[in-house]
Amino acid sequence: MKLLQERIRQDGLILSDKVLKVDSFLNHQVDTQLALEIGKEFARIFGDQPITKVLTIEASGIQFAMATAIALGVPFIYAKKKKAVTLSENVFSASVHSFTRQETYQISVSQKYLDPSDKVLIIDDFLATGAALAGLVDIVKEAGAELLGAGCVIEKSFQEGRSLLEKMGVRVHSLARIASMAPGEIHFVEDDIL
Ligand code: 5GP
Repeated sequence: MKLLQERIRQDGLILSDKVLKVDSFLNHQVDTQLALEIGKEFARIFGDQPITKVLTIEASGIQFAMATAIALGVPFIYAKKKKAVTLSENVFSASVHSFTRQETYQISVSQKYLDPSDKVLIIDDFLATGAALAGLVDIVKEAGAELLGAGCVIEKSFQEGRSLLEKMGVRVHSLARIASMAPGEIHFVEDDIL
């Protein structure tokens, strides 16, 4: 998505060869027009499928899941994060290890909102190691629902997330795929083709 790539070039802060900060327009302060365009783009990409629900994880996936769900005309659900490993009843849950924060947390979704008749599209802001999305995939499986794909706003293609998800049989589509980066420079996967 050209608009997104240009914005990342203009306003993204590359903190290291692994960490990109986009909190001036994507995941702290949010450019709502851009978020709506992102939702429309995901709806264009996945809209040929009979999606009944969009699923994300709190907090920074919410605005993109909502924009996508609006464009598709379906509800969205966000998995809740808990630090403590309290297994409560009536929830589907998975454990996620965050390599960025070096901590393991539980994510959960009420059993009231996912069931075997659901056809789910997962949406999130970043695809890095894939741990967060793999946790959401586990929840969809646990619910017996069908997973139709996963959409990520930014993929760091030099990390292993995409291959992990593809090995799990997930159709992955990311709007901006970063091949490599370093302070002051960024290369998108498409750049390599040119
Ligand atoms: P994972 O490693 O599970 O794919 O990524 C987990 C989460 O870490 C993402 O949803 C995102 O919130 C955060 N994350 C990973 N890499 C980056 C990054 O380079 N920049 C920012 N802002 N967040 C990141």
